[in-house]
Amino acid sequence: MLEFDSKGRQVVAALQTRREYFWFNPERNKCNKSDIKQVPAGLAEMQEAANRLKRFAPWIAQEFPETSGSGGLIESPLVRIDHMKRKLDPAAGVAGQLYLKRDDILPVSGSIKARGGIYEILKLAESIALKHGLITLADDYSVLSAPHNKDILSQYAVAVGSTGNLGLSVGIISAKLGFQTEVHMSADARQWKKDKLRSLGVKVIEYEDDYSSAVAAGREAAAADPKCHFVDDETSEDLFMGYSVAALRLQKQLETEGIRVDAEHPLLVYIPCGVGTGPGGIAWGLHQLYGNNAYVFFAEPVESPCVCLGLATGLHENISVQDIGLSGKTEADGLAVARASGPVCQKVGAFLAGCFTVEDEHLYRLLSLLKDSEGISLEPSALAGMPGPFALTTEAAGKTWLAQQGLTGKLANAAHIVWATGGSMVPDTEMKSFIERGRN
Ligand SMILES: *Cc1c(COP(=O)(O)O)cnc(C)c1O
Repeated sequence: MLEFDSKGRQVVAALQTRREYFWFNPERNKCNKSDIKQVPAGLAEMQEAANRLKRFAPWIAQEFPETSGSGGLIESPLVRIDHMKRKLDPAAGVAGQLYLKRDDILPVSGSIKARGGIYEILKLAESIALKHGLITLADDYSVLSAPHNKDILSQYAVAVGSTGNLGLSVGIISAKLGFQTEVHMSADARQWKKDKLRSLGVKVIEYEDDYSSAVAAGREAAAADPKCHFVDDETSEDLFMGYSVAALRLQKQLETEGIRVDAEHPLLVYIPCGVGTGPGGIAWGLHQLYGNNAYVFFAEPVESPCVCLGLATGLHENISVQDIGLSGKTEADGLAVARASGPVCQKVGAFLAGCFTVEDEHLYRLLSLLKDSEGISLEPSALAGMPGPFALTTEAAGKTWLAQQGLTGKLANAAHIVWATGGSMVPDTEMKSFIERGRN
């Protein structure tokens, strides 16, 4: 029997209508900046992850020439989208500037998964390479491309369960390093992702069932082999830390652009959310850096609002969207997740600003609008954050919350960042049909 309080029941009732809905996290109001001190290791851990990525930069630049311009750092631009803002908001009701964080064009795998997924595999490779004396921490890691070093890595295996993008990121990097790689994919994964992975020599195993079953099957297969590392999207600390590095990188970009973040200049960030690890890592990183001056919202499909449900009921991973009669199905790849990550709910529950839900058709409309106004092509899931700034600043519930937070008068100074999570790997024909669908 699943039990939760009356507030939780209200949220469940709202989610059950399958209409777009904005949930504000009541826990956030109890949290103040001093809470950051409860995770003193946070900043250091995040920096350590960033340093590890730096050590790998020479190897990345060598193996993925598209990153040589950035010296082997896998990072995406932050761009202002004024045309889109005018299209969406002709009455100019949204105060502040609107930016798009373009993880859709992250090098190597074209989605937000190029952060966490790649980080976890690089960390694994580093620990194996150190153990075998292939490198020292001070070396140029590009030696890992040498055949005799790859031979050693090829004695190890990597497995992952995925709806698509995580499998793609992990598969690409893991195959490049020489690891034997197995990707367990759920039924909703796109054919082109499976084809791409197979072309890289990755073993793709398909499941009729949903995402959780693919993860469970992958976890089991890996457990039987001590030389096999399983990338666990639901619980992995490494994935989470890899994503968190985005906050450090964004901080630099904001400084470069002259965008201030402080009590008078709030930062509002809207991130598409599946199991929660990616947006959770980024939200947590931003909280380490900016405390309560960063307001992060997760965006989920109306049929799979698993993190909203987990947080609002306090049941975290112990409740699924099917428990409240939702299907968990959506055309937004990566967001069709029925059950939230428990560790993520625990880590972000105290400070996350809230969650909101989006209808699939709305994603397609926004997809075409962004293409027509800015010339930017995203995959449907990557648009989930886009309605956030508008709902927040123009709808009654949002206005009330802004007033409670003391933000109403500060919005003119605000930066709204919509996190675009994927798109550049989508084949042209598929992208064309997405755009057509939105226009209709
Ligand atoms: C994975 C993914 C997300 C969400 O990340 P989670 O860690 O699953 O919450 C969002 N958008 C896209 C395109 C993704 O692939």
